[in-house]
Amino acid sequence: VGSSPATWLRTTPGELLDIIRHEDRPITKLELAKRTGLSRSAVTQRVSSLLNAGLVIPTRHLAEDTGGRPAERYAVNPNWGVSLIADTGATGMRTAVCDLSGHLLNEHFDWIDITQGPDAILGAISKRFSSHLVSRRLSPGHVRGIGISVPGPVDARTGRVVSPPIMTGWHDYDIPGFFSAQFDCPVTVEKDTNAMVYGAFRSSTAAEQNMVFVKVGTGIGAGLMLSGRLYRGADGAAGDVGHTRLDSAGEVAPACRCNNLGCVEAYAGGWAILRDLQAAGVEVYTIDELVKAVHEGNAEARAMVLESASIIGTAVAHLVNMANPRAVVLGGQLVGLGDLVLATVREQVYRLSLPLATRNLTITTCELPNPGVLGLAALVSDLVLGPDNVDRLLADRRG
Ligand SMILES: [Zn+2]
Repeated sequence: VGSSPATWLRTTPGELLDIIRHEDRPITKLELAKRTGLSRSAVTQRVSSLLNAGLVIPTRHLAEDTGGRPAERYAVNPNWGVSLIADTGATGMRTAVCDLSGHLLNEHFDWIDITQGPDAILGAISKRFSSHLVSRRLSPGHVRGIGISVPGPVDARTGRVVSPPIMTGWHDYDIPGFFSAQFDCPVTVEKDTNAMVYGAFRSSTAAEQNMVFVKVGTGIGAGLMLSGRLYRGADGAAGDVGHTRLDSAGEVAPACRCNNLGCVEAYAGGWAILRDLQAAGVEVYTIDELVKAVHEGNAEARAMVLESASIIGTAVAHLVNMANPRAVVLGGQLVGLGDLVLATVREQVYRLSLPLATRNLTITTCELPNPGVLGLAALVSDLVLGPDNVDRLLADRRG
């Protein structure tokens, strides 16, 4: 069936691995031959090169062991290597080492200040990476890919940060270059919300093909999954709802961290709430302290969070009208306030979005403690085990 020469010439070992990787269970050579139109010998040859490189492992399915010889099945070898991950926010970072199925092997959280600049922060990440490897008895040679997320706009082609509002000193810094000097593997850099939406997407049992992740922390931003794909936009700037302008209704619009006036963030971001509370004489200096103040019943803090949630809800409603997602997932530190934020956002979205867009829409808070880490781990695995990278690796082995 369909075994035209054109098909079998085109199906590379890397493409075969891609098929194996997306199966729910290990697959036989016969199934691979049927799937690709390759001859048995062509499949055997390609599977052998994947086996020799350690990329796939043979497995046997006991369930089938009912008379006759069970066919050898093949699966991706999750221990072929590991990925190193750093999910970096404005004030904290999670670093991790993961296997290539995206499972966490080791994770660590550190408080940081992103405005210390790339040398200090990337240096700290690099130290954590080393200690993760040591604690898992791994060497840099085991690292097959690196994923870094940052709280700012990332040029999707170069992996460089572009005029980030809060990342002083990071503009145009070569983050991939920093790590490729130490590790011989691909490095991927993502905006934090892109990593988060991908993590939520890959971890959800429903795996909604159209999903929006809204991060509500110090800043406000969103990541979009559209038709099952991470949507970065033409240059990587998609989803930046925090810097859309609100109508200030005649009042003087507050200045934003991006140097514009009246952005959503300048009214409703965590930093704006802290600014207003401090001006009102309430002594809260971090988002954690803010969350604590609300939990302890501080009326002013509660009122300002509610007002923010309403503005955030308006921004989310715009996103819902624009992208028509099936799921909106709220994450970030302010979501620690649970229903207070969630209920208000829901109310605004149902009020301001079209009935068709909200009929099947769910709006929930993110249950995962680390969607950014999981998203990066999945993105790195996709890249490392993708056909292009695998075929390049196999060619390098031959050469
Ligand atoms: Zn702004």
